[in-house]
Amino acid sequence: MLEITILGTGATRPTMRRFTTSLVVRHEGEVYLFDCGEGTQVRLAQSGFSLMRMNKIFITHFHGDHILGLPGILFSMAKNERRKPVEIYGPVGIDRIVNGLISLNFGRVPFEVKVHEVHPGQSISGETSNQRGTGYRIDTFKTRHTKESIGYIFREQGYSNVDKEKMAREGIKSNPKFADLKNGKEVEINGRVFKPSEWLVEMPGASVAYTGDTMKATSVIDAVKGVDILIHESTFNEGDRAKFDWGHSSARDAAEVAKEAGVGRLFLIHFSHRYRSMKPLLDEARRVFENSYIAEDLDLLTLKKGSFDLGRVKPHEATD
Ligand SMILES: [Zn+2]
Ligand SMILES: [Zn+2]
Repeated sequence: MLEITILGTGATRPTMRRFTTSLVVRHEGEVYLFDCGEGTQVRLAQSGFSLMRMNKIFITHFHGDHILGLPGILFSMAKNERRKPVEIYGPVGIDRIVNGLISLNFGRVPFEVKVHEVHPGQSISGETSNQRGTGYRIDTFKTRHTKESIGYIFREQGYSNVDKEKMAREGIKSNPKFADLKNGKEVEINGRVFKPSEWLVEMPGASVAYTGDTMKATSVIDAVKGVDILIHESTFNEGDRAKFDWGHSSARDAAEVAKEAGVGRLFLIHFSHRYRSMKPLLDEARRVFENSYIAEDLDLLTLKKGSFDLGRVKPHEATD
């Protein structure tokens, strides 16, 4: 299961309505933070995420609205007497940026900060446990914004399941013994032997892509083909994008990417503060790609075995 908490949806600076664009992917009890602007740790606290359990942070590019929250988070971790290392991933130059922020001397950082420079196309994989189907892979891809900007795709490892269509065809009812079958064991039910090789099918794991800032780009379309959820920046509507064109996308651009890549759902994010109502952007996207949504701060997206749920984080009571 993948759970995506949208922490912020705005561009440039945090406002009361929209904090800067950032999100958390939760998978098998681990949390992965993507981008970290000013105020991100407030939204993390509201969503109930502990900084002490956050081990991996991924940065798309070095504009302030995507990195200025890093020193604050490192400082808070230090104040909470964290000792476990933190890993920060980002495009070429991330090393210089993170070390530069730490060298501001805002406080002692008594834990190791491991910085990983990632080239577009490189993958980061990990096992969250040794159980089958619980691993993940994070692919990276080139975006069209700054020289080094990249996007990320979080892919849950696939898993084996009993072939439900075959069962229906042969009129076989579900049975508790199928749990063993799923784990690769041969089982016998009413004298009939069920072999894993004949009754199991490979199910793809859930996947979510996050672009960071980008103009419409073929490198993005190629990378995000077929993902369940695409979270694509949409700073402007089509008219304003043409006017300002600062390396960003319009709602229509994002929808075209979603359509051409054949994704499941599109969430627009990273909105300019000039917009009061988001309906014109949503309408613009839906004219091209029906399954488009406006991301809001504290939205909670759940992907579980092919099903999708959109809810809201229940903000945690302030404890301090
Ligand atoms: Zn930005
Ligand atoms: Zn930017």
